[in-house]
Amino acid sequence: ESFRDMNLHENILADITAHKYETPTPIQAQGIPVALSGRDILGCAETGSGKTASFAIPMIQFCLNQPPLRPGDGPMGLVLAPTRELAQQIDKEVAAFGQSSRRSVRTCIVVGGVQMHEQRHELRAGVEVVVATPGRFIDHLQQGNTNLARVGYVVLDEADRMLDMGFEPQIREVLQNLPPRHQTLLFSATMPPEIEGLASQYLVKPIKVKV
Ligand code: AMP
Repeated sequence: ESFRDMNLHENILADITAHKYETPTPIQAQGIPVALSGRDILGCAETGSGKTASFAIPMIQFCLNQPPLRPGDGPMGLVLAPTRELAQQIDKEVAAFGQSSRRSVRTCIVVGGVQMHEQRHELRAGVEVVVATPGRFIDHLQQGNTNLARVGYVVLDEADRMLDMGFEPQIREVLQNLPPRHQTLLFSATMPPEIEGLASQYLVKPIKVKV
């Protein structure tokens, strides 16, 4: 299976080529078609497997297929990650594959440890994708700087680490308040009972992807 056979938007294919990804990694070969089909995913994968692109590429395609943002709209795609460093890496990858579609796929990193105001400004201006750590994202939600009304594609990356760091309440807060129609992708290096619990509560007939 090649990226060409995945029915990806031409702009995305051009960006994949520009990024010198020639062959999909196993998690990409398994995960991208499932994600594009709209199904939920429970993914067991570690960093280094290429999991970031496995959720980022379908997320960009999702955004390109949505009606454009209107003033006041929140993001269409949301990625929650445990740390600022990981959020930055994810954002970089989303930006890379959304390069040719830049005007229609804007991203914003929302992490703690920096002032709220610049993030607030970006969020309020409107972005298709937010890559966030859970605590800071909830702060912005509570302040009315963004909203979940248009989120149709949500990713929990390194979910086990997020739970270890005590982010379960924030994750639940997000998952409980998503609009009825949305797709959820949960990635975790390990599958302890707490992760299985979250998955059984919030994922709808997930396809398991494991590498
Ligand atoms: P990840 O597991 O998402 O952190 O990715 C690990 C590394 O593999 C990153 O440096 C990616 O840029 C790289 N990578 C991911 N997918 C591919 C691919 N299909 N071809 C070449 N490199 C890749």
